[in-house]
Amino acid sequence: EKPLVQIRNLKKYFNSGGVPLKAVNHLSLDIFQGETVGLVGESGCGKSTAGKTIIRLLEATDGEVFFEGKNIFTLSVTEMKKLRREVQIIFQDPYASLNPRMRIEDIIAEPLDIHGVVKGKKRKERVAELLKLVGLTPEHANRYPHEFSGGQRQRIGIARALALNPKFIVCDEPISALDVSIQAQVVNLLKDLQEKLGLTYLFIAHDLSMVKYISERVLVMYLGNMVELADSDELYREPLHPYTQALLSAVPVPDPSKQSERIILEGDVPSPMNPPSGCVFRTRCQHAMDICAREIPQWKEMKPKHYTACHLYNEQKN
Ligand code: SF4
Ligand code: MG
Repeated sequence: EKPLVQIRNLKKYFNSGGVPLKAVNHLSLDIFQGETVGLVGESGCGKSTAGKTIIRLLEATDGEVFFEGKNIFTLSVTEMKKLRREVQIIFQDPYASLNPRMRIEDIIAEPLDIHGVVKGKKRKERVAELLKLVGLTPEHANRYPHEFSGGQRQRIGIARALALNPKFIVCDEPISALDVSIQAQVVNLLKDLQEKLGLTYLFIAHDLSMVKYISERVLVMYLGNMVELADSDELYREPLHPYTQALLSAVPVPDPSKQSERIILEGDVPSPMNPPSGCVFRTRCQHAMDICAREIPQWKEMKPKHYTACHLYNEQKN
């Protein structure tokens, strides 16, 4: 099976007064047709930047992204227009991402208008269809964003993202700004849509419990670096990296007797302008060893399809 999206050594640096801010230091990942990969980490770990760089909303500093086998950084103008239809993004904040002065119909139809896809009666029909798809009704088309709740606004954002029949959607913390009671509804909607429309998602989040529910595989990032990748079940059952272990220890489990001891992460994420030498996690790691300051841990497959970068799992550690 060929991956729909192939990310190779992706880097995104920002220039911060002459100092490179390494928002994404290294990212390599295959995303297969129809799957959801969760991308998890604390805020500031580079996950949103990664999501935007992967679909070229931000220009990469280095590396490659292939969509259906084609390098998207070298596409012609025509090919780029096609890509803009096939990959979409859903944003975190359904309040900020919808123009308050636009009617819902015009918000949802905006991508159709930009790409000159449909007009007149067909446009209205397509908007009605999209509204129904996300659990709203055609009558909602004439209203304005302020008339809707946070969850409904996120549905509108999803409808807009679906307007052009995309294949791949970056969901950038689509539920983080919503009430906990609404989060599951939006996640369920995304799952239903995935099945119905054959969508592929990169699902960015800091909440690990919802990520487990929606993702087949989960990638954990820390300070712009990949630290662990595995099937969701495997990652939650047997996290290898101390950072993943700490994140998971904070997630409540259904059976409290199985709750692992809470690992408190001391201190803040270091500045990506001045990352620690060696392992970027070492300033907060309970297991840090001498080698962790000297050598960058290599990304390795520890078990089938379970990868991590940590010196704890090296044969010759000291
Ligand atoms: Fe901790 Fe060292 Fe592993 Fe980094 S490489 S996570 S500092 S044990
Ligand atoms: Mg973010």
